Amino acid sequence: MTAPLRRYGFEDAERCVQCALCLTHCPTYRLTHDESESPRGRLAMLAAWDRDEAPLDPSMRRALDHCLGCLACEAVCPAEVPYGKLIDRYHEVTASPTRAPSVRLLVWLTHQHGKAAWLHRLLAGLERMRMLPLLKRLAPGRLRTAVRLLPDPYPRAVVPHGRLVPKGAAGDGAQRVSLLAGCVSSLWMADTYVAARELLLVLGFTVDLPDHALCCGALARHAGDSRTAQALRAELLRRLPVSQPILVLDSGCLAETRAACGADGSGGTPVYTLTTFLEAHWPPAFEPALRQPERIALHVPCTQRPEIHDAQAVGRLLGRIQNLTLQPIPIGHGCCGAAGSYFLREPTMSDAFGSALIASLGASLPERIVTTNIGCRLQWQSELRRSRLGIPVEHPVETLLRACPRAGPREGTGS
Ligand code: SF4
Ligand code: SF4
Repeated sequence: MTAPLRRYGFEDAERCVQCALCLTHCPTYRLTHDESESPRGRLAMLAAWDRDEAPLDPSMRRALDHCLGCLACEAVCPAEVPYGKLIDRYHEVTASPTRAPSVRLLVWLTHQHGKAAWLHRLLAGLERMRMLPLLKRLAPGRLRTAVRLLPDPYPRAVVPHGRLVPKGAAGDGAQRVSLLAGCVSSLWMADTYVAARELLLVLGFTVDLPDHALCCGALARHAGDSRTAQALRAELLRRLPVSQPILVLDSGCLAETRAACGADGSGGTPVYTLTTFLEAHWPPAFEPALRQPERIALHVPCTQRPEIHDAQAVGRLLGRIQNLTLQPIPIGHGCCGAAGSYFLREPTMSDAFGSALIASLGASLPERIVTTNIGCRLQWQSELRRSRLGIPVEHPVETLLRACPRAGPREGTGS
């Protein structure tokens, strides 16, 4: 008997037993209630296309392109269908994501550190001249989609580099950690890196920051550019010290950085989100307290939901802060719609997800929103601006720093 013909390598799609357990976890299915926009529907399409039983027609292509790559389906699948590998392969075969020039530009910037830094300075300069709001209003077409999500106000800080030791510690006496400055987050969350470094120093850690931003390769991989993703991972491994824990600020960088460092089950250097690390290593002497009572809404990114331990750690960490009331945000459609470069390549779907965010806050609006993901933060800021709501969005480390007694050990010398 001859083996059935497979054209593109989607054999694993046939492992789906059609149990439907993944459907209610899938943001695009929750939004549309359309089977073709579900993991099960997409797997059936890939399998049929692979066996040459159905051509990849425009409606199939649209449904497959709408996938966010959040992998909520993979996390709950009893048949262990490797959905992430399959959708990456689909992007590789069709090059769908990179048809959008703005996605190509974003992926290019992930490995062009000098050009990215130049762009950062240009945007910070436009912010100083108060011209960024004008650019957001007047930019044409897809460019408007891209600039709509720029942070407001645009950060003027530059991510620090080198080693910083807490005052009073004899350099190597304090526990050393590496803080990974990611490609996009080091530009648009530069203020957050400054806060993260400050918080780690306040808590008594010695912090190593690489001499420029490093990319985990997630954006390139989601865009179907596996060669660039592999090169970026290799560079990340070359430049980060492997003898101490590696901390990522943006939860979206966790899975890829773990894979790059061999920490995804095969040993290797431990990689944590900064929030999970802080939750496990919080010095008991520090009792964070906000000056005034605050109600803060916690947004859990869809990419963090499968990492249940990680998502819960954020809540526990913030739960240490006195005067803080934590308000969970209901799951809603299950995704904010930013999703890496998704907001650039699928702006209509991205908008549909984004426009549901404000309603998810309910009637009693919080004083702040916290989230660990740069894309979610930018999408929230954009929707809050659109609704003329002046609610700040911050990373949990910024909340913690505001709540920490500064009388503890402070930043000392760099070496
Ligand atoms: S990756 Fe996310 S959006 Fe895509 S099918 Fe799975 S759950 Fe749905
Ligand atoms: S949970 Fe897994 S096996 Fe069940 S329908 Fe979804 S992809 Fe198929």
